Amino acid sequence: MPANRPASSPRILAVANQKGGVGKTTTAINLSTALAAVGEKVLLIDLDPQGNASTGLGISAADRGVTTYEVLSGDYRLEAAVTETDIPGLCLAPAGVDLAGAEIELIEADRRHFRLADALEEFSASEKGAGMTYVLIDCPPSLSLLTINALAAAQAVMIPLQCEFFALEGLSQIMRTIETVRTRINTALELQGVVLTMHDRRNNLTNQVEDDVRAHLQDKVYRTVIPRNVRISEAPSHGKPALLYDLKCPGSQAYIQLASEVIQRERQRQKAA
Ligand code: ADP
Ligand code: MG
Repeated sequence: MPANRPASSPRILAVANQKGGVGKTTTAINLSTALAAVGEKVLLIDLDPQGNASTGLGISAADRGVTTYEVLSGDYRLEAAVTETDIPGLCLAPAGVDLAGAEIELIEADRRHFRLADALEEFSASEKGAGMTYVLIDCPPSLSLLTINALAAAQAVMIPLQCEFFALEGLSQIMRTIETVRTRINTALELQGVVLTMHDRRNNLTNQVEDDVRAHLQDKVYRTVIPRNVRISEAPSHGKPALLYDLKCPGSQAYIQLASEVIQRERQRQKAA
């Protein structure tokens, strides 16, 4: 078990869904940016060997020093991996392709499920980590040891969901995983919320899946939906979050609205605690 975190520690959210291409990385980048834009101090941890969150924030493979692989393997502290981005208030712990090997290398390692949780706890107590208010973890498209490390380190899971035919099956699978992690690894893990991504109001199937998901999970589904928007998909090739690439586009505006919903819920949660 990770030790109890002090009250001043950041809210740690794993952005997870075992399906690829559902908007995890896009959500991790743009929600982090939107949170930083309103004055939060945010760390985005790239835990996907593809490193798309790192590239999307303009940190090319050549510019990456210490990566999350070296943090999980125990060679470096998280502090050494954390680098500033062009966005004030947003730091990044980048990933590299070597992260794909961590799975096998850690198979018999001590505290293999808690490598990230341990690193984050140490980071929160460090000078660099002090005052951090949000940590977002961009997970790979699998329920591998990497995702388990994210779920062990997180306080809550944010699930991006694309409203398509198999969405509900995918959703029950990740919910089962959260339940398993909660019973065995991280009893405090909560569902932060489900965010509907690449939403297309003109599509009947989208609307039907949205109705089903809302009926099933009710207020765990964010009111904000992220529309399918070509500006969002163009932004990463410019090494920028959509919010910097085109602030006025509907996708950027939706992520700003999502950030305000996240902050609102966070305030309510703190009040209730
Ligand atoms: P994941 O991290 O779950 O694999 P990504 O965030 O990388 O998914 O998104 C998959 C692809 O869909 C990317 O090419 C991305 O640019 C695109 N995409 C994500 N969200 C949107 C959106 N709202 N509108 C249009 N394209 C999107
Ligand atoms: Mg991704």
